[in-house]
Amino acid sequence: MAERSSTDQVKPTVPDAPDLARATALLEALPSAAAFFLRSGMLYAVNALGREWFVVDARAPLSSQPSSVVLLPLGAAGTALLSRAVAGSAPTTQQMPLGRDGRVVDVRAVPFDDELLLFTATDASARDEQRTESARIDRELSALMRLTPSAVRITDLTGCILQSNDAASLQHPTRTPATVRELWEFDAPHDIANNRPLSFLDAPAMRALAGHVVRGQLLEVRRLGAQRVIESFAAPVRNEQQQVTGVVLLDRDVTDHQRLERQLHEREGREAELQDQVTHEREHLERLVEERSRALIESHEDHLRERRLAAVGQLAAGVMHDVNNALNPIMAAAYLLRHYAESPDAVRDYADRIQKAAEIAAATASRVGRFIRQEPVHAGGDEALDLSAMAEDVLDLTEPMRLRRSSDAGEVLIVRQFAPMVSTRGLPGEIREALLNLVQNAVDAMPDGGTLTVRTFEEGADACLAIRDTGVGMSADVRERAFEPFFTTKGSKGSGLGLAEVYGIARRHRGTATISSVPGRGTEVTLRLPRAVGIEPADAEPDASSLPVVPQRILVVEDHDDGREFLRRILQADGHQVDAVATCAEAREKLASSAGIPYDLMLTDVGLPDGSGWDLVQYVRRKVPDVRVGVISGWEPIADTGESHGAEFVLRKPLRAAELQAHIAGRSAPASTTE
Ligand code: ADP
Ligand code: MG
Repeated sequence: MAERSSTDQVKPTVPDAPDLARATALLEALPSAAAFFLRSGMLYAVNALGREWFVVDARAPLSSQPSSVVLLPLGAAGTALLSRAVAGSAPTTQQMPLGRDGRVVDVRAVPFDDELLLFTATDASARDEQRTESARIDRELSALMRLTPSAVRITDLTGCILQSNDAASLQHPTRTPATVRELWEFDAPHDIANNRPLSFLDAPAMRALAGHVVRGQLLEVRRLGAQRVIESFAAPVRNEQQQVTGVVLLDRDVTDHQRLERQLHEREGREAELQDQVTHEREHLERLVEERSRALIESHEDHLRERRLAAVGQLAAGVMHDVNNALNPIMAAAYLLRHYAESPDAVRDYADRIQKAAEIAAATASRVGRFIRQEPVHAGGDEALDLSAMAEDVLDLTEPMRLRRSSDAGEVLIVRQFAPMVSTRGLPGEIREALLNLVQNAVDAMPDGGTLTVRTFEEGADACLAIRDTGVGMSADVRERAFEPFFTTKGSKGSGLGLAEVYGIARRHRGTATISSVPGRGTEVTLRLPRAVGIEPADAEPDASSLPVVPQRILVVEDHDDGREFLRRILQADGHQVDAVATCAEAREKLASSAGIPYDLMLTDVGLPDGSGWDLVQYVRRKVPDVRVGVISGWEPIADTGESHGAEFVLRKPLRAAELQAHIAGRSAPASTTE
């Protein structure tokens, strides 16, 4: 080329400056490394990238640099391409490596005008990378479109739908909307929030085309022949200049979601309603229960009252029966006495009969009394007792009865479980009576024989005695009523007083009596009495046998005329000097006026018309302390204030002459031996 340029003088070898500047500006506008070569093969102009990629000497004039040097980085292929261009047979593009940095360039050499050849080298690897990148983005995008359950549509600026995913195509399978207008027509959307048809201009796609972003607008649309609820999203797509070039539309069907939500809401409502109902019912029930229990308690109280009345009636009937039985012979004997008054034998005989009948009546009264009088044993009358020893006594006492039973029915086996010393204080007569009653009941309960277990033991502050049998047992009803006086299941053979006495005796000794029983299995009755500690059993009772009577001066206070007269006569019969009055006032008068010749003894009734015999006792203790006092009590309970309110002895009606005599003589047996 050098030769050619040197020979061809017509063509300017050095361009004029304005042409060069224009050519360079043109090259700079290209995105490639670019240069103009003269047909001679010398460089004419080059852009900045060309200076970077090719071998251009900045200090030497361009026209002094031949293409063979400038294009060195492209190797022989570069100059060969340029030569082909000169020859007019240049291929449009040829790829070749550039230098040693691994870059591949698309090289082009084309005749520009008569003198110049344009040579460009564009980075092919960068373009390839871009192509790969955009292909990758395309693939990801389509995967995303396939994957999302939402319907996705992409439109251009005019609202033509360019692309839509499967979910979108399924919405309108028969006629696919080609534009957002058609989409709007097919859907006929209804704006749920504002409850009105959605105008086309307000459609999400249109608002996105206007540059807005729509996020989750709830619309009711007609799709697949049904009304569906969708949540619609739309956003504009912008180019590098931020101009809107289209929109992306996305919607998801939330009909089921909405229905579920509604159902949930309804269920919550129903649950709240139910809760209310339950609360209401509960309150109602509570009220009902309260009413019923009140009624039940009332009826229970009624029942108790009835039971008490029945028990009282039963008691009265029992007493009446026994008293009538006693009165019968008394009345008959009284009648006959008058008739045979002249015959001393007959008189004595009838007197005996009267006495015997009266004794029977007195015994009944006394037994009832033991039940109804529950005053504690008063000091002076009780003594230290060993329950084990007493139980042994009672078993001995009842042996003949048990032997008799064993001969005609089954045998009763006795088991003794005695603790060594089980001490209490009390009246031995009463305790013995109670134990006798219990043994009797146990034997009665075992008509075919069985085992009778008697246990004594200490438990806490109690001295205990339990009598158990393997007999018929008691039903709940019988157990409940067993302590009632005159309650019996033994017909005419039973008195119904046994357990009533046991109960009264236990109470009087500040103790308890309890029954545990299983029908068909047996019964155990347990007596619990206060335990006495460190007390020796009392000495044997002094023998109160017949001693000569010392005459005394006695004041009798008794409002009952017959009682007063009989008492006076009995005492006078014994040789005593007796004054008898009917009221407290009279008694006080007598006591005061007899100051000269004092009384030895005052015998007073408790229930007096103008006061209590106990007040009189106090009066005597204060005013004339030397006078001894005896109290005769009918049914009144004796107050537990020790020393019998200052009385020396207390006798219970009916009086027995022998006892009275013993007390007057000062050989006092325990006060309650009247029972
Ligand atoms: P009675 O023995 O005269 O019937 P009680 O007061 O002793 O009167 O007893 C009342 C009732 O209690 C008896 O009729 C009987 O039904 C019942 N009972 C008492 N002790 C026993 C017992 N050990 N086993 C079964 N029932 C008994
Ligand atoms: Mg009995």
